[in-house]
Amino acid sequence: MKEGGQKSSNILKKWLCSSRFWLLITPFLLFLLLDVAIPFKVSPRYSTLIAASDGTILHAFLNDDDKWRLYTELEEITPVLRQTILQKEDRYFYYHPGFNPVALGRAFLKNTATGRRSSGASTITMQVVRLLEPRQRTYLSKAIELFRAMQLELHYSKEEILQFYLNLIPYGGNIEGIKSASLLYFGKLPQLLSLAEITTLTIIPNRPSSLRLGQKNAFIVQERNKWLRRFEKAALFDKQVIDDAVNEPLTAYRREAPKLAPHLAFRLKKEHKNTPIIRTTILPTRQAQVEQMTRNYVNRLQSMDIHNAAVILVNNETMRVEAYVGSADFNNPYDGGQVDGIRAVRSPGSTLKPLLYAIAFDKGMITPKSAINDVLTNFGGFEPENFDRRFNGKVTIEFALANSLNIPAVKVLKELTPSVLIGYLKKADFQTVKKQSKDLGLSMILGGCGVTLEELTRLFTSFANEGKIHGLNYSADAKKSKGEVLISPESAYLINGILTQITRPDLPNNFDNTYHLPRIAWKTGTSYGKKDAWSIGYNRRYTVGVWVGNFSGVGVPELNGANIATPLLFDVFNAIDYNSPTGWFKPTTDITRRKVCAESGDLPAKFCTHQVLDYAIMGISPTRRCQHSKWVLTDKNAEISYCTQCLPDSGYVRKLYPNMAPELIAYNELNHIPFQRIPPHNPKCTRVFEVGAPLITSPNDGSEYFLENQELQLACQAGNDVREVYWYINDKLIQKANPQAALFVKPPVGKVKISCSDDKGRNVDVFIKVLSR
Ligand SMILES: [Zn+2]
Ligand SMILES: [Zn+2]
Repeated sequence: MKEGGQKSSNILKKWLCSSRFWLLITPFLLFLLLDVAIPFKVSPRYSTLIAASDGTILHAFLNDDDKWRLYTELEEITPVLRQTILQKEDRYFYYHPGFNPVALGRAFLKNTATGRRSSGASTITMQVVRLLEPRQRTYLSKAIELFRAMQLELHYSKEEILQFYLNLIPYGGNIEGIKSASLLYFGKLPQLLSLAEITTLTIIPNRPSSLRLGQKNAFIVQERNKWLRRFEKAALFDKQVIDDAVNEPLTAYRREAPKLAPHLAFRLKKEHKNTPIIRTTILPTRQAQVEQMTRNYVNRLQSMDIHNAAVILVNNETMRVEAYVGSADFNNPYDGGQVDGIRAVRSPGSTLKPLLYAIAFDKGMITPKSAINDVLTNFGGFEPENFDRRFNGKVTIEFALANSLNIPAVKVLKELTPSVLIGYLKKADFQTVKKQSKDLGLSMILGGCGVTLEELTRLFTSFANEGKIHGLNYSADAKKSKGEVLISPESAYLINGILTQITRPDLPNNFDNTYHLPRIAWKTGTSYGKKDAWSIGYNRRYTVGVWVGNFSGVGVPELNGANIATPLLFDVFNAIDYNSPTGWFKPTTDITRRKVCAESGDLPAKFCTHQVLDYAIMGISPTRRCQHSKWVLTDKNAEISYCTQCLPDSGYVRKLYPNMAPELIAYNELNHIPFQRIPPHNPKCTRVFEVGAPLITSPNDGSEYFLENQELQLACQAGNDVREVYWYINDKLIQKANPQAALFVKPPVGKVKISCSDDKGRNVDVFIKVLSR
């Protein structure tokens, strides 16, 4: 054994020292050394391709060199394509190391004999080298190409080299690669090409100028058929297959690159740099349909000077964005067609109100039948008006939401506080609200903040998804995220019910004559200055967000959510999910029904004779007992009321009177709405009342007023039993007045104290600063 080992190691030593060994190994080592020293970096710059969810192409972009070089994937190289291209270009492709020594030798001999240079010996690998690094045709270049070809073979598989080849072959002009040619000349993906079409595409690259597709089709057919017959001779395909291919007409012509979903395409291209194929969630037919509808719809609005719209369609079950229309016409430069209206930051108008009420339901503040006063209210200097500039007096929360009333919304937000609402909006990923959060106040619920259509639409998917908010999916392989609880399923259910009511003013004018009403829940919005019209709607399957307006920011009197945005929302729903088979939202287990007083929405007291059914969230909704009336002690004729201190021993009665907030009394007075007044309090009463002093609604405490020739308005709200109030300026009595009357005075310049006392001696002061020029 030992002896034998010695023997063989001797042989090895001997052989290692032999020159024959070094002759063999040196070029190989040299090649490896050079490969490290001058590596071959292969990174062709591809065009970006945006694919729909079914793999069809939505949009294609030129690459950085302004070339159409679409990336062909391995699975797109079909056996027929591979066979024809190898038969034609490089039959020994799978067997050679990058160059074909036999062919090379033959070409060398031929060239020396004729004195001419021909490139007949090129393998596919060498052609790839030349396409990647074009060089002058010299013997030195040829040597470099040989080296590069071997490098390619060392670092890449045969399949990858073939893929490079198919991606780089020229088709004339700025079209490169089989996929670009397939798409731009035949309008289909490579795997759908017929044998005749494949053969056509294999013969063009050698002569792209003389065989120009679309222009020299008749000549190309002759050339194609020559090759088809050669394939027949080589027994590549059956005769019948060849005959069919020979008879196939050539219909190639230069087509436009597809340009669907342009805004999303540009967006994703920017977000996914250097990705040749970006697969999206877009449904191509739906996208085309919604693009068309949006364009046609905006065309009809041109006469009103309304020029743009954006629509986004989300599948609630998968959170996939199925259609994305950023503007009415991407190619319209006059109206900012390239602006992406889905991501533009705009004022939301009233569209955040459903979230506000949903939160208030969850906080146990209100239920749908809770009463709230829609009357002129001054919120520390902020006096919102309703859209129609009218007030409705006492209304229910559901009426307030369905009719998008402003004062109730601001009241609820005031009680909730803006910071709580901002917290929810942050959770729902409202980017601009995050940035603005320190500057936002009560007006945010009427549109005083910035949102995008994308953010709003995503928010509304949470109502359809039992209160959970999920991320939107744009990428074909993304799964629905686990989601976060934004509001409770019960609260979402209540909102869904309210937003489905069709007895509401935000139906389009004459909608029943013009439109089918789809079964959806929806909310409209109109921003201040009539610049933005919103309508966001959903059923169980889809949420659709619609914005209509001008990117220039120009407001239009006719612009409002109900008449301008909702018709397009209805059109889209009727087109995508008319008579949805999925059915409607079902109440969740913690939803109960209960009888409440119709006057207040609170649990009925003995005097609450008018009761209605309301929804409630178990363990959450308020359980206040109704106080819509109160017992008052009066004399027999109900002319004087008493308190326990001044109650006579006999001759009094106990009577029910409406227990109204001063603001509602003021509203009823102003609008001449009759109501039952509590008789004035016993004038002989000596009791000093402490609570229930009037509320000064004008001027605002702590404000500064610039007054030139105008007068300052004095107004207050007082209790139901107050008949007269007394106004003082700097402790000097100015006037005795009806509590509902508004006075106008000229206060002195400087710091001014304004006081209002009622006929029971209750007093309130405010301090203002009057400035003058
Ligand atoms: Zn009641
Ligand atoms: Zn009294």
